[in-house]
Amino acid sequence: MKNLRLAARETQKRTTVTVADVEIGRDFVVIAGPCSVESEQQIMETARSVKAAGADMLRGGAFKPRTSPYAFQGMGLEGLKLLEKAKKETGLPIVTEVVDPRDVSWVAEFADLLQIGTRNMQNFSLLKEVGQTGRPVLLKRGMYSTLEEWLNCAEYILSEGNPNVILCERGIRTFENYTRNTLDLSAVPAIKELSHLPIIIDPTHSTGRVSLIASMSMAAVAAGADGMIVEVHHKPDEALCDADQALKPVEFADLMKRLRPLKSFLGDLP
Ligand code: PEP
Ligand code: MN
Repeated sequence: MKNLRLAARETQKRTTVTVADVEIGRDFVVIAGPCSVESEQQIMETARSVKAAGADMLRGGAFKPRTSPYAFQGMGLEGLKLLEKAKKETGLPIVTEVVDPRDVSWVAEFADLLQIGTRNMQNFSLLKEVGQTGRPVLLKRGMYSTLEEWLNCAEYILSEGNPNVILCERGIRTFENYTRNTLDLSAVPAIKELSHLPIIIDPTHSTGRVSLIASMSMAAVAAGADGMIVEVHHKPDEALCDADQALKPVEFADLMKRLRPLKSFLGDLP
């Protein structure tokens, strides 16, 4: 991959990215929370439950890139303020998506980790903008993208002078339609061969099925992933977005009890 000057493995061995007080690239880091921020009660209750179960960071979308223009688009600034409140109470750093280059500078004031979604992976003006903020960036893999295309997008951010890039494998489109997407777990060790950047997985958007999330999360630990981002909702049946794939707090707590011992059993993977 000859165009990679900063993202390639040759440049350095392994990078860890520090988000608030959480270091990504060492232990298995867990980011959890609802697809979108919907109300104060929803985000506060969910935040408290994921914190109690041992999550390291809180996710929640305030700007939602939806397939239909008529679907709930997110609460915007109000949603960000609610995330700020949840952070204040729980101490969990905030991960939230930014979809428009014009919003990057002010969304970055609320976000500890700025998420670039699959549909925007190759939005080069957005990549340059988040590159200029210096804020840590979670770059999701485009659903139709090769590893090379993905790493070139990381390169866009790095080349703006922002070294804080974390990759996220969230599933790619294949002919299989039982699952929402196909989780490409081989991307984890492959990225570790190609790049020094940390990589986490998203068992939620990749499978789209609650019943598959625990297995895929544990498989990701075994594959050497640096963490995961998973959707949890205090009442999934009432979720305004991605209701079928959100874990209940009790399911998330159960998964957390199984993940940590697995990680310590496996020790440091190459
Ligand atoms: C999300 O994390 O809520 C999201 C929209 O993810 P993706 O961009 O991977 O579909
Ligand atoms: Mn979602």
